[in-house]
Amino acid sequence: MVVELPHPQLATAYASARAPGTRVTHLDSAAAGRSSAATIAAITAHLHQEAALGGYVAQAQATESIEAGRAELAALLGHESAELVFTESALGALTALLVALRLPAGSEAWVTPGEYGPNLATFAAFGLVTKVMPVADEVGHLDVAAVRAQLRRERPTFIHLCYLGSHRGVVQPAAELIAAAREHEVPVVVDAAQGIGHLDCRLGADAVYATSRKWLCGPRGVGMIAAKPGFVPGGVQRLESHEAYIAGRVGLANAVAEHVRLGPERVRERLWAIGSLTRSVLDGVGGWRVVEPVEEPSAITTLLPPPDWSDERTQAFRGGLVDQQRVVTTFAGVERAPGEARRAVLRVSPHLDVDTDQLRALAAVLERSPSGFDNS
Ligand SMILES: *Cc1c(COP(=O)(O)O)cnc(C)c1O
Repeated sequence: MVVELPHPQLATAYASARAPGTRVTHLDSAAAGRSSAATIAAITAHLHQEAALGGYVAQAQATESIEAGRAELAALLGHESAELVFTESALGALTALLVALRLPAGSEAWVTPGEYGPNLATFAAFGLVTKVMPVADEVGHLDVAAVRAQLRRERPTFIHLCYLGSHRGVVQPAAELIAAAREHEVPVVVDAAQGIGHLDCRLGADAVYATSRKWLCGPRGVGMIAAKPGFVPGGVQRLESHEAYIAGRVGLANAVAEHVRLGPERVRERLWAIGSLTRSVLDGVGGWRVVEPVEEPSAITTLLPPPDWSDERTQAFRGGLVDQQRVVTTFAGVERAPGEARRAVLRVSPHLDVDTDQLRALAAVLERSPSGFDNS
């Protein structure tokens, strides 16, 4: 199957905004997207301002751009500007939220089987108990009808929804789940670290948090959380960090402005098609098997290695892909989703500018992989 990718002008715009000629095939936006030259320039300009004026004067002068970024990020998450605050990462946002919520030990959070491992560790550190919600299929999509039935019998303190996981490109039926939870007045917190800049994140949850560096292609070291009024005791503003990477917030403001100029809906449509194309090009090649359904609406593809490969071999293979083939992907070990992952996978997460030739080139390497790299 050859998929015609929609909105080809996005590929051109995305590529021309970035440094060319690195001779690296970057298929790793789910780990860290490639920042544009203008985003890097915005960060460095701010660092120069800090050196010239001092960090606090420089920050005051950057207020307008940071607030513009706040407004655009809030809109992407379906919130008002005043409901969004900056943190250092997605995990930092979750931690700050849990500190503010002060839930008694033993409080119950319902999660998906594919819940992100570091989130589970954070829940445990706060004394929370997690319970896995029922799924409808073998790739782990939630069974919302079954969750609704369960909510008639028992209620958790809150539901934590990992909208799109780190270990698998499966998109959860977030809007349906949130509607079901609302019927039972159970709050929902959404991890949109892989969602923002990629999927529609205007979900109506009580709180949603995300990160700068993945699909939005902002810098590392910046995260965000938005919450409905009244959800965070004392107000969500309490969660904003003050000693922070302000240059990064300026850079993120530029990155989100670029995303909005590309058109979030067009970006979603193209990324979805890219995911489908990636899966159809790679599935079955050299004994590698794509985990997601081809039509899954995300640009994350994960591949199970041939059956006799150990996780260590997969990890070494991923290292070789970078060093010898100049193709950047992720080795995603089972610790990313200990409730669901049984074997490590290779994660392929291209952005808007990927082309079929790059995917075919990766397929050719996978084809030869059972016998190692062929450098000829
Ligand atoms: C990357 C990721 C996180 C953590 O984001 P950080 O900004 O690194 O803290 C959380 N959840 C999921 C699903 C992720 O992929």
